[in-house]
Parts: sequence; C-alpha cells; structure tokens
Amino acid sequence: MEGYRPVDPRESPRFSGIKTFMRLPHIKTTEGVDIAIVGVPFDTGASYRVGARFGPEAIRNVSALLRHHNEVLDVSIFEHCSVVDWGDLPVNPGYVEDSYQMIEDGLLPILEGGVIPILLGGDHSVTLPELRAMNKVHGPVALIQFDSHSDTGDKRFGRKYTHGTPFRRAVEEELLLVDHSIQVGMRGSIYSRDSLDDSRKLGFELVTSVEAQEQGIGELVQRIVNRVGDEKVFVTFDIDFVDPAFAPGTGTPEVGGFSSREALQAVRGLKDLNLVGFDLVEVLPQYDPSQVTALLGANIVYEFVSLIALKKKLASEG
Ligand code: MN
Ligand code: MN
Repeated sequence: MEGYRPVDPRESPRFSGIKTFMRLPHIKTTEGVDIAIVGVPFDTGASYRVGARFGPEAIRNVSALLRHHNEVLDVSIFEHCSVVDWGDLPVNPGYVEDSYQMIEDGLLPILEGGVIPILLGGDHSVTLPELRAMNKVHGPVALIQFDSHSDTGDKRFGRKYTHGTPFRRAVEEELLLVDHSIQVGMRGSIYSRDSLDDSRKLGFELVTSVEAQEQGIGELVQRIVNRVGDEKVFVTFDIDFVDPAFAPGTGTPEVGGFSSREALQAVRGLKDLNLVGFDLVEVLPQYDPSQVTALLGANIVYEFVSLIALKKKLASEG
C-alpha cells in the first residue's frame, strides 16, 4: 500500500540514521496517515524518581530493532497502515498546568486529522491532558489502565495535578465512560485500607495483580473485553505494571508484577476493541542500565501499532 513506512532494515543497517520510532519518517502531517507516534517528554508530575522526560528518546533508540511483520498477530504492519513519528509535543518543565495546555493543544490537530495517536511519556500525569484532547474529538471514552497503581489519589503535596491523581481528575472532568473503564495490575503497599476502594467508588472496575495472577491472563483479557464492550477506548500502559525484574527503569517500581510475556499477551488480547488512542508511560532510562525497560516499552508500542494494522487487514479482507 501507499503511505508512510519505515526504512527497510535489510537495505540500511538498523544502527544507522537519526532515531525515530522504528525508523519511521519524522513528518508532522495527518494527510495519508493512520497512526502517529508522539513523544511527551514531561516528568514534573512524578512523586519519587524523575527522568521519564527521557523515556521517548530511549524508546525510539531501541525501537530500531523492531521488524515489520508481527508473527503472533500475523500482520505485516505497513501493508495496512501508514505510520509517522510526529516528534515530541512541547512542554514546560516544572510547570504542570502550562504543560497540560501545551499537550492538549499539541494533540488536538492529530486527533482532528483522524489519526490514531500512540503517545510516549513522560510520567503518568500526561494522560490527563491527552484525555482532555480525546474528549474534545471523541467525547468521553472508556479507559483501560495497566498499572501497579490506580493513580486516583486526590492531592499530592497539596496539588491536584500529579502522576498519582490523573484518573480521579479524569472522572471529575467527565472525560471517561467510567462504567466501561477498568484498571488492572494494582499491587504493593498502599496508603490506607480504603485506597483501592476509592477507585471503585469513582466507578472503575479494578483488578489487583494478585487477582489477575490467580485467574490468568486469558481471564483478565475477557474481563477487560466484557467491561469495554463496543465503546471507543483509550489504552494507557504504565510500564510499572510489569515486574521490576523485567522493567527496572521506572519511577515507582512495585515487586510481584507481571512478566514481559504476560504484558504482551494482555495487550494482544485487545485486538477486537474499538481502539482510538494509546499511551505508554513511566519509562525512566537512568534506572535502566541494560535498556531492557525501554526495549519492552518499544515492543508494547509495536503491539499497539500491530493491533490497528490487524483491524485494517481484517477490514480489507471483508
Ligand atoms: Mn501510573
Ligand atoms: Mn504506576
């Protein structure tokens, strides 16, 4: 098919060239584009370690390894999808509200152009302005959140906008179809006995890591699919969903998590949903000496792209 596609790694070595996601062309257009990869290098919302501002760069660097055919989903991505690397949205380091406006304004033209965005964080605070932009174009959407934390706190250090609070704000701002939204993977020590109930009171279905691990990934996927139904859905993937043995490079790691294999299996299970946007957040390269976290992040984004390509492939086959 005609459209934007990466350089062929058999013609040009994978270690060469300027680093974009999968070596896609860096073009800021929505014309003839199905998917845009978009960096959001902002980490002022982080409560513990900072440095996720370098996440997009690290993911792009290691994504040069990715090849064009997804064997498990059986789809040759660029036969069905035109994809660009949009570059990064502008942000103002240190200033959450300013950055929120810049992120929302930066994402809007991509959505208005009918392009599916896949955003690379940044800490998890960036998902709120993303959802504000999504709401302007799509109306409220369902949310699937993979995360070891629910991120539905009220305030951190007296402030409303941090990486621990975006999904409470999203409910308050009526950006979500909360009856169709689900949070999965919560684990680790929490502030009080009712911390997780806060999410349920807001209307989310919440599946803890222990529950999901007892039931298995197949059952977890079924719960997600049942919850979302046919609604438009935004997928937000906090890399700390995965165990720090597989993803050490993150700001607030929690032990007892999922393997990379389980994470990929869960994402692939979303193939029949009405997917309208994605983000992958909280990759923190300074704590990722072997780049294994960035590599996993790149592969999860690869699965996101593949899910859209697969839908297009199946639609073209009737
Ligand atoms: Mn999070
Ligand atoms: Mn988290």
